[in-house]
Amino acid sequence: MDLISRENPARVAEIVGSVPVTDPAAVDAAVRRADDAFRGWSGLPVAERVAALRRGADTVAARLEELAPLLARESGKPLADSRGEIGFAVAFLRWVCDEAPAVLAATEIDDDAGRLVVRRKPYGVVGCVTPWNAPVILAMLKLGPALAAGNTVVLKPSPLAPLTITEVAAALPAVQVIHGGAETGRALAGHPLVRKVAFTGGDAAGREIAATAGAMITPAVLELGGNDPAVFLPDFALSDADYERLVMASFATAGQVCMAAKRLYVPRARTAEFTEAYLAAAERVLVVGDPLDPEVTMGPVISAAAAARIGALVAGATGGTATPLGRSAPGHDPASGYFVTPYLVTGLDDHAPLVAQEQFGPAVPLLAYDTEEEVLVRADAGELGLAASVWSADEERAFALAGRLGAGFVFVNTHNRTGMSLRAPFGGVKRSGYGREYGKEGLLEYVQSAVVHAPAAFRPGGPGMAPGAYPGGVHDEPPRAAGAVRPPP
Ligand code: NAD
Repeated sequence: MDLISRENPARVAEIVGSVPVTDPAAVDAAVRRADDAFRGWSGLPVAERVAALRRGADTVAARLEELAPLLARESGKPLADSRGEIGFAVAFLRWVCDEAPAVLAATEIDDDAGRLVVRRKPYGVVGCVTPWNAPVILAMLKLGPALAAGNTVVLKPSPLAPLTITEVAAALPAVQVIHGGAETGRALAGHPLVRKVAFTGGDAAGREIAATAGAMITPAVLELGGNDPAVFLPDFALSDADYERLVMASFATAGQVCMAAKRLYVPRARTAEFTEAYLAAAERVLVVGDPLDPEVTMGPVISAAAAARIGALVAGATGGTATPLGRSAPGHDPASGYFVTPYLVTGLDDHAPLVAQEQFGPAVPLLAYDTEEEVLVRADAGELGLAASVWSADEERAFALAGRLGAGFVFVNTHNRTGMSLRAPFGGVKRSGYGREYGKEGLLEYVQSAVVHAPAAFRPGGPGMAPGAYPGGVHDEPPRAAGAVRPPP
């Protein structure tokens, strides 16, 4: 059996653990087991499903201190972030348990127009394909709502961070985890018994997943990349703490976050002041080193290929000035793993690859602008529209611009994870994908409405309706008795 062995990206000689590759025949068997389990799981009352999920949340919470170092070692995410991500996933699952009974409840109307029942029915087997950058929460955003709604799940995590999520998923009912790369993901997304696909990842895989699912008429949720602009209005007023939060909005998880602040648009007259405060804040909060060192706030990137790609983006930022940020933890050896120096890059134009593309790494461009209308156009340029932020001392002014930006989620006076809310639907516009996670919309992704309807006209004693008539139409013929025959014209 083939194995995926995952190295520690901070100390590449260390193997953190391994998982077996699931071949296509075993993917088929897993989906069939999930399909067999669907009738039983979906037949439970929602209260029972939610109770089982709450027990799962408690189990994961009780193992937090054991799982956080595992996540740090396999993903390179600092220990505090790893703890935070698992804790957030538990909080999200508990939130789903609180909200699901009301959101999933059937509605029934019995009135003059008839009797109408709208049920929220699960799809069946949900196939989930997830990335490595936040492997626990990004899987939980699918598992929690899908399971609460009564679906069963087959989850394929990224081979670059498969270990912690496998442990977390084992605490939940009605989930199987399969492992592998694109081939395993393809076999899952294209399986005829998979009734919904939920994908988070990059553009190339997203396009292929959408095509594979589309060929089977399987609906999909696609959470893809972003190139988030952070727009500072001329009146922005940032404290030292705000600058520190802003630095981490770009450099948490070494910049490998879909909704990181990826382009900073600053009024031309205030760039010098901004740059000075930004560099000072980075010096205070950005500490590069081993993720298990409690002082460290930025670990390595995920792989040698990622380090090379980001290095090339910075090297290719011709005409700009790249200023290294932060400091190294004492005793840190950058050669031990996939470490990349974090940079603030100034002086680029919007066509530079570091600006125009999603960098997904620790280098952020600072761009000067002159007018609000101009920055709106520049911030919205490109094919991506995941998140954005607007920063201003005047909240009304910030909300006004935020409402005009072409992004699925706009933060005000913050950016990235500090701006999230369990109740706020998250997802992209344009090529950042479709479908939503979090909030009521995130729960409704995993149900289809199914209707039972008795129109008043045909209920006992009802007046009937002309054959072929449209109900409620403005040109309705007068009601006729059931069985009456239309006279010839
Ligand atoms: P990726 O697309 O390379 O991989 C994601 C998952 O898809 C992995 O499990 C991978 O094995 C699988 N996969 C790859 N090719 C596939 C194929 N052809 N068919 C089926 N499965 C396939 O992405 P990544 O490098 O793991 O993640 C980085 C990207 O994810 C970035 O663009 C980032 O912005 C995006 N992202 C988006 C969100 C969001 O919520 N919108 C969140 C996190 C990451």
